[in-house]
Amino acid sequence: MKGRNLIAEVSEALKNKSQIENLRTSMLCMRDKRDAAMAGYSEKELAELRNIRQASLSSLNESIKMLKDKLEENGCGFYFAKTAKDACEYVVNVAKTRGVKRIVKAKSMTTEEIELNKRLVAEGFEVIETDLGEWLVQLAGQKPSHLTAPAIHLSRYEISKLIEDRLGVRLPADPKEVTKFVRAFLREKFLTADMGITGGNFVVAETGSLVLVTNEGNGRLVTALPRIHVAIVGVEKLVRTWEDALKILNVLPKSATGQNMATYVTILNSGSETPSLDGGFVEREFHLVLLDNGRLSALQDTVMSEALKCIRCSACFNVCPTYRVLGGHVFGYIYSGPTGIPWTYISHGLENAASYAPLCISCGLCRETCPIGIDMPTMISEIKRRYGERNGYRWVDRRLAGYESLVKLASNTAPVSNFLLGTSMAKWILEKLIGIDRRVNLPKFSGKTLRELLDGVLVPRAESDRKVAYFADSMAYYIDVDVGLATVNVLQKNGFNVVMPPQKGSGMPSFLYGLLDDAKKLAEYNVKQMYEYVSKGYDIVSAEPTAIYCLRFVYPKLLGTTKEVQEVAERSYELFGYLLRMLESGMLDLSFKRYNGVKAVYHLPCHSRHLSKDRPVLKFLEMLGIDAEFIDYGCCGMGGTWGMKKGYEGYEISKAIAEPLVMAISKSGADFVVTECSLCKMQIERFTGKKVVHPILLLDKAYKGLPIP
Ligand code: SF4
Ligand code: SF4
Repeated sequence: MKGRNLIAEVSEALKNKSQIENLRTSMLCMRDKRDAAMAGYSEKELAELRNIRQASLSSLNESIKMLKDKLEENGCGFYFAKTAKDACEYVVNVAKTRGVKRIVKAKSMTTEEIELNKRLVAEGFEVIETDLGEWLVQLAGQKPSHLTAPAIHLSRYEISKLIEDRLGVRLPADPKEVTKFVRAFLREKFLTADMGITGGNFVVAETGSLVLVTNEGNGRLVTALPRIHVAIVGVEKLVRTWEDALKILNVLPKSATGQNMATYVTILNSGSETPSLDGGFVEREFHLVLLDNGRLSALQDTVMSEALKCIRCSACFNVCPTYRVLGGHVFGYIYSGPTGIPWTYISHGLENAASYAPLCISCGLCRETCPIGIDMPTMISEIKRRYGERNGYRWVDRRLAGYESLVKLASNTAPVSNFLLGTSMAKWILEKLIGIDRRVNLPKFSGKTLRELLDGVLVPRAESDRKVAYFADSMAYYIDVDVGLATVNVLQKNGFNVVMPPQKGSGMPSFLYGLLDDAKKLAEYNVKQMYEYVSKGYDIVSAEPTAIYCLRFVYPKLLGTTKEVQEVAERSYELFGYLLRMLESGMLDLSFKRYNGVKAVYHLPCHSRHLSKDRPVLKFLEMLGIDAEFIDYGCCGMGGTWGMKKGYEGYEISKAIAEPLVMAISKSGADFVVTECSLCKMQIERFTGKKVVHPILLLDKAYKGLPIP
């Protein structure tokens, strides 16, 4: 990609073991704190937040006018900056005409976006960041690597070394000592600055109020001490009313840092007076720069407009598996992390966004954790598509997207293919020809497809009105056929008429690599076939969470919400979620064997998280008497076929993501691992050497009274 060598950057980042460890520990801690703080939010409240964000964007023109009138009425400067350059010009002009020399700044990604510091320094101004993290990255000559924690990539040892190298001050690697030093260092800067620059968490159009949410108090000093305050705020941050603002204000600290309330919430009403150093009050000059820089044209883009709803809480960073090992300097441009990819597209164009979009593995965890439910994976796949259409798709991505034809060929030629694919010569050829890492152990292909094996098994049961259409997806169809057979057996045992409609693979790999036209064709085919049965009262069930994730969430995005797509989505169930419903309604046959004393570890696949909050597999393991430990590090790193890609394009990152999970499994002393995703299974088996089983195999054996695993 233009100007970047992503593979070299990845390989460098993966050498930095201490950074990986710091990021992993901090992100996991932030994720857990955030989840606890957000636990009280109901689906209804979150839906209301989404509506507020949508309504704010829909009424932007009206809000801009309202804000402008309000600010001008109060004698404040208002400037609508079409571009980053315009915004910088305006600030430089205000500073020059008022004889400004020293400028203090509060943390603002919007000023990073327009590279304001660079411009101000080039014009001869002294610019000092005052948020601790921003101050550190400024001192290091770096960019922020996280939306709310800009220096999260630096360890305390690196920080004390940085201060010693740049300022000649030797400090212990102790956060308290560093904070004490920086506080004293900055105090004089605040008192002597001529201008303060901030961003804004949002602006309330009805009163012209700027709202700043901070934890360090520097925002108050930046806005209250210098004689001029300039705020630069993206136009999407405008909300119409205080009622809307308060609802966002309530969720923001919870989703950002797991706090019920931020330490400081500063509301600046235009033209308000602030205390002066001599004990009186002074009216400070205030300017608001409302920045477009691509936002208003993104508003017209049916896919990318979704990014404008972002409230910049950063929760998506904490769960993103690739961000967690690579950090924001690799997984980013100026904006970083999951939301950074569409935001880079909006503010810095397709090429820059596509420069790190390949690091997204479509796990969907960002979407699942986002309080606004922003669909990052779809926007990122669309960016890959737009880039691929303009510049061509990568060979390896094309081949892996079309994996179903490769799998079909291998299945048709098994057992010969199984023998050949196990040889080092074949692995070398696959690496050279397709780009599959030679260290990947390819699965064993079944000589017969699941449909062939089910011949004579799917017999109608006239006495039952329970009807299920089984969507197998490629792995159960060609490789893990035992999972397909067990699924059918368990459903039949519970009195279901099971049919297997004609079907193709779910299309997830095509979606992942941005080959959206191919994904759409598969989606159209599958929806048409499944709808045949849904319209006759069948439910769709799959033992592969990704298949249901596609039917429920991806297909409606690809095909639009037609009646057929909608009904298929609504009637599609992941197998264990479906069995749990039966259990809860007293319809499940409970005559199965218990395995008391058996120890297992459970890994929850990313796409399962979207399908149910109830952890149905864990409930079944408990019913089976299995002592199952839930190890929750998030994604296992496989990302479908992505973890098979050669070296630093996939395999190495995938391995680094899997590391904590692998270590925990190895230490667990469990007899085996349970997971319901066939590709998580491959990943965990290859890195732990432990046996990994699909839970339906356990339930099937339990019904048959057989030993496990
Ligand atoms: S889909 Fe997964 S890998 Fe992609 S940006 Fe979101 S969290 Fe990261
Ligand atoms: S995309 Fe969602 S989770 Fe990520 S920063 Fe924006 S609002 Fe927060």
